[in-house]
Parts: sequence; C-alpha cells; structure tokens
Amino acid sequence: MTKREDYIDWDTYFMNLAILSSYRSKDPSCQVGCVIVNKDNIICSIGYNGMPKGISDNDIPWGKNNENELDNKYPYVVHAELNALINKNTQDLKNCILYCTHYPCRECTKIIIQSDIKKILYLNYKEDLASKRMLELTNIECIKLDLKQKIKLENV
Ligand SMILES: [Zn+2]
Repeated sequence: MTKREDYIDWDTYFMNLAILSSYRSKDPSCQVGCVIVNKDNIICSIGYNGMPKGISDNDIPWGKNNENELDNKYPYVVHAELNALINKNTQDLKNCILYCTHYPCRECTKIIIQSDIKKILYLNYKEDLASKRMLELTNIECIKLDLKQKIKLENV
C-alpha cells in the first residue's frame, strides 16, 4: 500500500484552521480568524475577533452604523491578528508566517511588523493603503492565498 496522495498542503491546512477559528467570532457582520506558524510548520498561536477579556459578548453592541461611535463595535473589538499576536505560546514570533482570513488593518499591521512576522497570507482583501505602505517599507510579503480547498467539516 502506498501513501495517500490527496492530502492537503500546509497553506491549505493553516488557512482552513484560520477559517475554523473565525467560526468562534460573535461578530454578525465580519468573522476573522488568524493562525501564526513558525518555519517548522508548528502553530505558535491562533485567534479570532472578539471582545476584550472579561467583557461579555452581550454587554457591548455589535452594530456598525450607529451615529454615536460608542454604540458601534469598532471601539471595542479585538482583531483576530492582535489576539493571535498576544496569545502566542512561544517567546517570539520572529520569521513566522501569519495566515489570516482577511487583509490586515493598519493597527494590526503595526503590531505584525513589531512582532517580526516575515510573511502574511490572507484570503479576503479590504483596501488599507497605510497597511500596504508599511508592509512594503518593511519588506513583509503579503500575498492573497489562492485557497485550493475549503474543508467542509461535515466530511470529518
Ligand atoms: Zn486589525
């Protein structure tokens, strides 16, 4: 008997984990997941967008179109990348690859740069020219992944 040939590659594996992680998000309009992996393909961290620790998901509004800024989710939500960068299970993330379901915003990009991440792979693009500029200036590769296979959990 020979080995299976239809196993998934690393990029497919980690991006599907990022997608799975995004399913934990309570955000009704945007679910983001993030996985950080080192050069040995070992997972260093994983995260999704959510409220800060200790704040109930029910105590903060999840809307985004209220006139009063404080009645929208934006001032409160911790982005998936930030959660992953903070909750790492290793001392540092130097030269790691960050897989994310979405293109990073400018605030996450700053922290990604400060963490010495060397490469970003994302699925969904939302333009942020400040992110783009900072990533170019720091030579961090940022590539839209052509996901070959989205795993259906029902198949497991
Ligand atoms: Zn962000």
